[in-house]
Amino acid sequence: PVRTRFAPSPTGLLHIGSLRTALYNYLLAKNTGGQFLLRLEDTDQKRLVPGAEQNIYDSLDWCGIHYDEGPNVNDKKYGPFRQSERTLIYQKYIDGLLESGHAYRCFCSKDRLDELRESAKRLKPPTTTSYDRKCAELSQREIDDNLAKKIPFTIRMRAPDRYPAFKDLLHGVIDIQPQVNANDRRYDDPILVKSDNLPTYHFANVIDDHLMKITHVIRGEEWLPSTQKHIALYRAFGWEPPSFIHIPLLTSTNDKKLSKRKGDASVLNMKETGILPEALVNFCVLFGWSPPRKLAATNHECFTLKQFEQIFNLNYLTKGNAKVDDKKLWFFNKHYLQIHLADPSQFEIISQQVYNNIRPVFGDTVTLEKIKLILKKCGTALTTLNDFKDTFAYFFQTPTYVNSKEANEFLQTHNKEDILKVLKHFQDAITHSNIEELITKLASHGSIPKKSIFESLRFALTESHPGTKIPVVIELLGPKEANARISRAIS
Ligand code: GLU
Repeated sequence: PVRTRFAPSPTGLLHIGSLRTALYNYLLAKNTGGQFLLRLEDTDQKRLVPGAEQNIYDSLDWCGIHYDEGPNVNDKKYGPFRQSERTLIYQKYIDGLLESGHAYRCFCSKDRLDELRESAKRLKPPTTTSYDRKCAELSQREIDDNLAKKIPFTIRMRAPDRYPAFKDLLHGVIDIQPQVNANDRRYDDPILVKSDNLPTYHFANVIDDHLMKITHVIRGEEWLPSTQKHIALYRAFGWEPPSFIHIPLLTSTNDKKLSKRKGDASVLNMKETGILPEALVNFCVLFGWSPPRKLAATNHECFTLKQFEQIFNLNYLTKGNAKVDDKKLWFFNKHYLQIHLADPSQFEIISQQVYNNIRPVFGDTVTLEKIKLILKKCGTALTTLNDFKDTFAYFFQTPTYVNSKEANEFLQTHNKEDILKVLKHFQDAITHSNIEELITKLASHGSIPKKSIFESLRFALTESHPGTKIPVVIELLGPKEANARISRAIS
């Protein structure tokens, strides 16, 4: 069966780029009836951030991405799933590599390595590697001596002279060789175990993917140049590597653009700003994957996680950098918000939630009934629930007519006498059901166009806030408040 994994390092908040990686791995497993794993790559102790692990769990959970195996979840057979708890396993495999000669201990000091790096920069033709492989040639006695003297060491892989080419399922055959200088040969020889005895990403990643029986690795393109090292390691062990799929990155400029409105592009921060998980999932999957055209057209590209599970496959991944259009995110959010509002039980929850949010802001004028009415009649104006407060503030605040840009604009562009005439016509006259009648009557005099009537009323009732139809505004305010606002506007 297909087995995929999401292998984040708990070094910060989970961002949407990583969420997308998680999604593709999850979807491939679900689509093929396979398993999806969560593995925490936490061996780089210096970069660990407190709370980051919990943030990963919370983000995945919020998006509805559940893993079949992971830290403390079905971890008897292939776990533990925190790399920091697997050191004994890595120990065993590194011993094997030392024995077979595919790896060696490197006792070189930091100073020596720095010097090598500097001298490598000066080589002509230039080289992309710097280590001279001195320690690969040590005799067993020298090694034992160094160990007895407790000289710190790393363990390096003896890289092959040529890395084997490999096939990436998205990019095709990849064949990248380090550049070397024949007169002063330097070697790639990546470090597998650091001097603190913890494995590097390269080593732990390969051991774990093999032991956890991973069949497909979907990950960010930044790992493409490392993959040949991983494949060389698989070969050194005599193991079959998994299939690799490297997906294009979300470029930082796009990231920036996204974060403008939302503070940053972390998943839970999006939640804070009122993004719905369905919208974020929909948005992320379509960054670099497109559904069959016909399907996309009929759905306006709206797909839930469940639907993606049915249709996702590797064939429709796109190679180029996916262009982020955050308008799409708002479009999806609006779409899913409307679906939630139309669902009676969701509607109750949302109403209560809005109530809890805005009651402290606007005080007593906020009632659950009023919120429900606004959501029912005007909910389509909302892109996120967080917009409720600003969009509908005028239902809860008495207008001042001085702070509103729209109101000022209205006053500057309209004849004051006409406005007064309109408002006087309505003053103290509005009841529950006569608004249309009053408007028609005034319009029939012919001196003031219907448009101006509406605009004057909107000015008085909402400080010229657009969006909601005037009869609905009156219904929501109630005749008492509507009349009071008109009187206020006149004075
Ligand atoms: N820990 C790596 C990361 O956070 C995982 C890369 C991989 O999937 O192999 O990017």
